[in-house]
Amino acid sequence: MLINHERLREFVKKIFEQAGASEDRAWQVAEHLVEANLKGHDSHGVGMIPNYVNGIQRGHLRVNEDAELVVDKGAVLLVDGHFGFGQVVAKQATQMGIERAKQIGMACVGSKNNYHIGRVGTYGEQCAREGLVSIHFVNVVGHPPFVSPWGGRDKRMQTNPFCCAIPTSGDPIILDMATSAIALGKARVARMKGVSVPEGSVYDAAGQPSTDPNVLEQGGSLAPFGEHKGYGLALVCELLGGGLAGEWTMQNVDKQTDMTVNHMLEFIIDPNLFGGLEAFQEEVEGMSGWLRSSEPAVGNDKVRLPGEPERESMSERSANGIPLDDRSWDSIVKAAEVAGVSSETVESLTT
Ligand code: NAD
Repeated sequence: MLINHERLREFVKKIFEQAGASEDRAWQVAEHLVEANLKGHDSHGVGMIPNYVNGIQRGHLRVNEDAELVVDKGAVLLVDGHFGFGQVVAKQATQMGIERAKQIGMACVGSKNNYHIGRVGTYGEQCAREGLVSIHFVNVVGHPPFVSPWGGRDKRMQTNPFCCAIPTSGDPIILDMATSAIALGKARVARMKGVSVPEGSVYDAAGQPSTDPNVLEQGGSLAPFGEHKGYGLALVCELLGGGLAGEWTMQNVDKQTDMTVNHMLEFIIDPNLFGGLEAFQEEVEGMSGWLRSSEPAVGNDKVRLPGEPERESMSERSANGIPLDDRSWDSIVKAAEVAGVSSETVESLTT
């Protein structure tokens, strides 16, 4: 099915309001999830709703929490999300960092105990809108691992995302990626659609490479991207996001239940601390033009910058609707009913 993003946003907001969230928080989560779908990341869009509703039912996700500043040491802030909606509390923590970076030039923010923060690029975009550079290291804990270390067969980490945002005078450059060969949610989307995943992205339980997303349900694992290099970056995210900011890394086997918790270490930097925003942007734009001037390689239409595929998807899906497969949609509707949305309301908000 194809669904209009505004209708979908109203429906998602209703689900979280019905689950007990304030109108403003429900709206922020709905806006974030639908934007992830608009930007082409169905793995971090409305398909997460069943996970969140399950988290709320179990008392793992606390729908009305705000982020609390627990340590303030000038450039260094530690913020506790108290297991609130990541889309709300990680945004608040980032805002604290933005304000500090504007005052003194830079901020290093540890943002811990966030329920799933979704698409990390959102927080990079938040910084870039203010003319600030940002770097985000994130780990994922609270449930059993899915990603094997390079050279290993057993699962030891999650898809630990990394993001770096660069402001320009136009659209920002947003490098925002899982450190696994594919995001876990992309394997879920492939399973729901009954399609294969790219070669080299999953292993079966015997450690054999596979393209079948179902192997993940049968003891298989996700591979890190880029062999030992992706593995190394995943480890850095684990140790900086999880070890330093969250004091909770994947080796805490007793804490592997069925939560989805993100810890994030963010560096937010004002270019005016160096040669100034204008001089920096001039260099960035020159470099961007230099990259774009490359002739396309065979099979490619042009060179893009990170963040561009998301903007292209956003303009296409805003105009034509968001595609959702039947299995994902059914599980969202079931979750809505569990949250207390009546079937008449589901019908009226979605048709
Ligand atoms: P991806 O592989 O689709 O894209 C990764 C990056 O590459 C993006 O910045 C994108 O703009 C860029 N890119 C893609 N194609 C490009 C091209 N042709 N030229 C130049 N740049 C290009 O993303 P992913 O690794 O599947 O991650 C998807 C999302 O999942 C991200 O938003 C990430 O934050 C999120 N995620 C979240 C968690 C969590 O626990 N919260 C965990 C893992 C991933």
